[in-house]
Amino acid sequence: MGTKTVDGQDPHVFASGNINAYIMFLGEAPGAEEVLQRIPLVGRAGKFFEANILLPAGLCRERVYITNSVLCRPNKNRTPFLGEIEECRIHLDAQILLVSPKLIVTLGNAPLYAACEEDRITQKHGVLRWSREWSDGRKIPVFPMFHPAYCLRGSGLAEMKQDVEMLTDLVKKITAGEVLL
Ligand code: URA
Repeated sequence: MGTKTVDGQDPHVFASGNINAYIMFLGEAPGAEEVLQRIPLVGRAGKFFEANILLPAGLCRERVYITNSVLCRPNKNRTPFLGEIEECRIHLDAQILLVSPKLIVTLGNAPLYAACEEDRITQKHGVLRWSREWSDGRKIPVFPMFHPAYCLRGSGLAEMKQDVEMLTDLVKKITAGEVLL
């Protein structure tokens, strides 16, 4: 598979996982490796995500749904602009309606904005909150976590560990059919 579309653009990286999943992970935007494989969160940050968030919480890729706030790779791997997140929200909304997750786990600031229209992940991580209203009128519980790339730079590791413990509890509650919020 080539890395460019016929008009020379990077292709969209849509989503991966299980459309019947209870848990949706929402990343920031695809990077080079994701564009190559057309799968979200498979590069360095994705490997950190799998080893330090997904597996310790008792989950695996086949049991969850993974997508990004922005489906195209921002040039030079910059953080997506708010306007880009807003433009892509139509795709996120469609995926939320399709999957109907019981919990959205946001990884970093951009997805926190995409799901809740809030910022300041350093203050808000680890605290369950409601999402914005989706186009079917529903809100869904959101658990904000740090972005794996932030932790790869050596920041927020202790907080990440605590948040993973909380996520593990949330997963158990969801499996037991408990209401989260
Ligand atoms: N790759 C993704 O797909 N999403 C991120 O947020 C980071 C890397």
